[in-house]
Amino acid sequence: MSLFRNSYVMIHNQPQDVLKSVFGYDAFRPQQADIISHVCAGGDALVLMPTGGGKSLCYQVPALVREGVAVVVSPLIALMQDQVNALKQNGVSAAFLNSSLSAAESAGVEQALLQGELKLLYVAPERLLMPRTLAQLQRIPIALFAIDEAHCVSQWGHDFRPEYRQLSVLPELFPDVPRMALTATADSATRIEIIERLGLAEAGVFASGFDRPNIRYRITENRGNARGQLLSFIRDEHPGEAGIVYCLSRKRVDETARWLGLNGIRALPYHAGMAAEDRQRNQDEFLRQDAVVMVATIAFGMGIDKPDVRFVAHLNLPKSIESYYQETGRAGRDGLAADAWMVYGLQDVITLRQMQESSQAQDSRKRVERQKLDAMLGLCEDTGCRRQTLLRYFDEHLEQPCGNCDNCLTPPETWDATVAAQKAMSCVYRTGQRFGVSYLIDVLRGHGQDRIRQYGHEKVSTFGVGTDLSASEWRAVYRQLISRGLLKVDVEGHGGIRLTEAARPVLKGEQTLRLRKQDRRRPSRKSALAVGLPARDNELWQALRDHRRQLAEQQGVPAYVIFHDATLAEMVERQPQSLEQLERLPGVGERKLVNYGEGFLAVIREHAAPRAGKKDAVAETVRLCSEGLDPLAIARQRDLTVQTVYRHLARAIREGELELADVAEISPAELDSIQMAFDASPSGTLKPVYDALEGAYDYGVLECVRASLAAAE
Ligand code: ADP
Ligand code: ZN
Repeated sequence: MSLFRNSYVMIHNQPQDVLKSVFGYDAFRPQQADIISHVCAGGDALVLMPTGGGKSLCYQVPALVREGVAVVVSPLIALMQDQVNALKQNGVSAAFLNSSLSAAESAGVEQALLQGELKLLYVAPERLLMPRTLAQLQRIPIALFAIDEAHCVSQWGHDFRPEYRQLSVLPELFPDVPRMALTATADSATRIEIIERLGLAEAGVFASGFDRPNIRYRITENRGNARGQLLSFIRDEHPGEAGIVYCLSRKRVDETARWLGLNGIRALPYHAGMAAEDRQRNQDEFLRQDAVVMVATIAFGMGIDKPDVRFVAHLNLPKSIESYYQETGRAGRDGLAADAWMVYGLQDVITLRQMQESSQAQDSRKRVERQKLDAMLGLCEDTGCRRQTLLRYFDEHLEQPCGNCDNCLTPPETWDATVAAQKAMSCVYRTGQRFGVSYLIDVLRGHGQDRIRQYGHEKVSTFGVGTDLSASEWRAVYRQLISRGLLKVDVEGHGGIRLTEAARPVLKGEQTLRLRKQDRRRPSRKSALAVGLPARDNELWQALRDHRRQLAEQQGVPAYVIFHDATLAEMVERQPQSLEQLERLPGVGERKLVNYGEGFLAVIREHAAPRAGKKDAVAETVRLCSEGLDPLAIARQRDLTVQTVYRHLARAIREGELELADVAEISPAELDSIQMAFDASPSGTLKPVYDALEGAYDYGVLECVRASLAAAE
């Protein structure tokens, strides 16, 4: 008896049919269609697509269209299981081979493979390259080879895997099988290496842009309470949602996770200093649950394929835009709205500048590091569209400001800071270029007399010239001067500040300087649901998530493998009442419809009650009204306010279920005068009408008249 009997191997001819019936989606994304038809026709492909772009479908669909098994090479053992689970949920027979399997399990998979029962096989590269595996594959029809995370072949990249280089045997052993290389990291050097190593000289190259339009970039100033700012951000905008918080040090990871926990947020730590099994447990929980916040060093994240990460927060500045882009890219892979949120301040700037200055690297390397940090700091201090700056870094040009970053949404103010900068910098000079920012600010503001007197700095010309700005405003000035490279931090690491060549033109008055005003922008509040549903749908949304969690727990798979957030959001939005209606939603394929359709419909029926309930409430009021009760009596009987009863009645009138005469006795002459009052009230609001009629009619009655006028139109 095969393990794979209850999955079915489907024979479909058209990619479009596979997309709908298996994956439940209506349309390919722009690049997907081209890639898939190219590969289905037997072509090789190099696919460069940002995270969340939809790379998996690019090989999964051809796997189902072409004859034979598709072999997917992936470096991430942890992910294979989830991918295979997700495919099985869609009724596709898939399996993986890697070192996590027992001998018996491996043998089972190999048997299924040789009997042609599999449509997709995920393998670790070292397993694929074993002579035994290669020999087995040579005996059966193969649909394609897909090499995921293909940048691992590049020895210049950060994820180099020596085994990946040996994949160059594939074109020799399987010359007729299409090969696809897929990656989200693709500078030109890496691209060239991939093409060389994997024999893709003839391959179609499909490059999608770097833009991740659903991610909202926000970089805010540390207002002296970064953790508190983080907590409000999570509470206000992402309660009960999954997210990642990046910190620089292990200590800060532990503290932040504990502190978030004390404040009622399910947060788990992750860093290289923890025992491997603790780390693994936390990672599993993060992947499987839908509301865990992972607090981590950058050790966490490679290959985190969780689609419903709703935010990535940075409590420390990344060292380069590449890192920032890669880390923030883990948010919103499902294409729904997600936040990349960062808080940064003077201390971050000083720390990074110091680290980079004191780096032991060779000069050429150091220069590169400095440029990278400059670009990152530039992004932080930017007053224009963040996305334009970010994409420009990757040589991509965005015509218009994006409208989905903090600077686009609430443009920051700038001010002419030339004089302030001159004061700040000459204070550095006059005190001997060896003090830190706090001391310099004390001198500028004439504070902290004792220490200053000790050095005789109460006599320098800049003493007390800076009372016009607050200490925190001065910090913002210094931060920006250091960010922009007019000042630098000493190499010895005492935090002493020195002038650079770039300071000269400003000091001499040859160049003016505009700086960003201190951030007083109020954080933009969104609805509680990142997916953009109105709050009244919260109950149904939560009920659907609970149901999904139960199903996932029963099967030991991550929640998103059952249905993605996007699909649940559609359920809330459209409230399907039948299997036919449910099947039209994105992400609902044939297999999931059969397995889960009725269950989710039941949840919708039960929890969509409030909307239907409103209807019932109106119906009950209408019934009592038809029985001859007046509004006051109805209100008493139903324990409602009279206003509510009138609102029900007005609604029934507007919808043609009642006539005005059923509700109130109003003569035609009276009606004329009321109508005239309405005509004279341009906004259509009730107050002017009520006043014009000198309070002769209740607001409720007027509301009903207005409804009947609207119904008559
Ligand atoms: P990548 O591997 O490129 O990061 P994935 O393959 O994980 O991205 O896809 C990201 C998300 O987009 C997944 O949730 C996937 O189901 C969804 N997706 C991919 N293609 C489509 C499509 N054509 N229509 C709707 N959703 C899609
Ligand atoms: Zn923008």
